[in-house]
Amino acid sequence: MRKVSETVRVEKQAESIYRIRIEVPFGVESVSLYLLDFPPLVLIDAGPRMPGLFKSILNSIKSAGLDPERIEALIITHGHTDHHGLASRFKELGAKVLIHAEDVKRLNHEPRFIEEEFSYYAELFERLGIPQESVSDFNEVMERFREFALPCGCDKELEGGEVFEGRNLTARIWHCPGHSAGHIAIEIPEEKILITGDHLLPEITPNPELYYPPRGKRISGLPDYIESLELIRSLEGRVALPGHGEPFADPTDRVREVIFHHEERARRVKELMDSGACGLWEITFEMFREEIKTGGSLQAFLALKEVLGHLEILKERGKIKGIPGLDIQEPNRGID
Ligand SMILES: [Zn+2]
Repeated sequence: MRKVSETVRVEKQAESIYRIRIEVPFGVESVSLYLLDFPPLVLIDAGPRMPGLFKSILNSIKSAGLDPERIEALIITHGHTDHHGLASRFKELGAKVLIHAEDVKRLNHEPRFIEEEFSYYAELFERLGIPQESVSDFNEVMERFREFALPCGCDKELEGGEVFEGRNLTARIWHCPGHSAGHIAIEIPEEKILITGDHLLPEITPNPELYYPPRGKRISGLPDYIESLELIRSLEGRVALPGHGEPFADPTDRVREVIFHHEERARRVKELMDSGACGLWEITFEMFREEIKTGGSLQAFLALKEVLGHLEILKERGKIKGIPGLDIQEPNRGID
């Protein structure tokens, strides 16, 4: 087995911008943090809680000639544990922790929030006709992910639109809801760099959040996600620095690909409804049979969230009458 220190690598990405790449033992393979020397030093994302990892991250920062105790702020791109897991450790070191207001509860693991979210999902899944044993499996999946983080308090809530300026760099915060309600992207205009978190990734598309609480009329993050992609497309990005995978050029090209991918998926969902598949569970299995066979409950949960998102998009566009179990009790066929 490799030593933890060998799984962390630091590299200079641009003037005053460093990438800390961490290999992780789950599906995404690596998580990247970004260290910006404004000055002061600002870290984007904290990485997951794993034995020995915090120390290795500090050592990698030192190896780049920087002092981790000079990190004044930790900005979290979104409230998922692989990105904020070690936040409390950086806070102990003196960093102020910033996250979008809509993800604060995910950062501090408020027990009442977790309980409420559990019962909301359970009730929602029941209405959507998901078998009880799968609902228990989904709860276990969520519980497992929580272990990658220690709860952490927030020092400043972000809204989007904030600008941070230093001698070397400027950073603009953009709110990009979808993968999580409080997801943000960070634009460094001097370098035309976009730090995209999980919003825009080179190889995979992020799973939409199942919102708790719902955002307005939306329960799935997918419609917001597509709108947030349009926002990224409108920014002048030359290079994207993602939360997983390698940095890549021309983020607008990738935005186009991802939108196309989701258009195709939405079309497939509509086709299945037209041909008689009527429930969320049925459509999900029809579309993701292979993935679910190999990936079990985790894949089923992710697939289900995505299909629900497509149903919501189709409903908003007036292509279907509603979502079976939520808006309508009768199985519905698509309408043209
Ligand atoms: Zn992630």
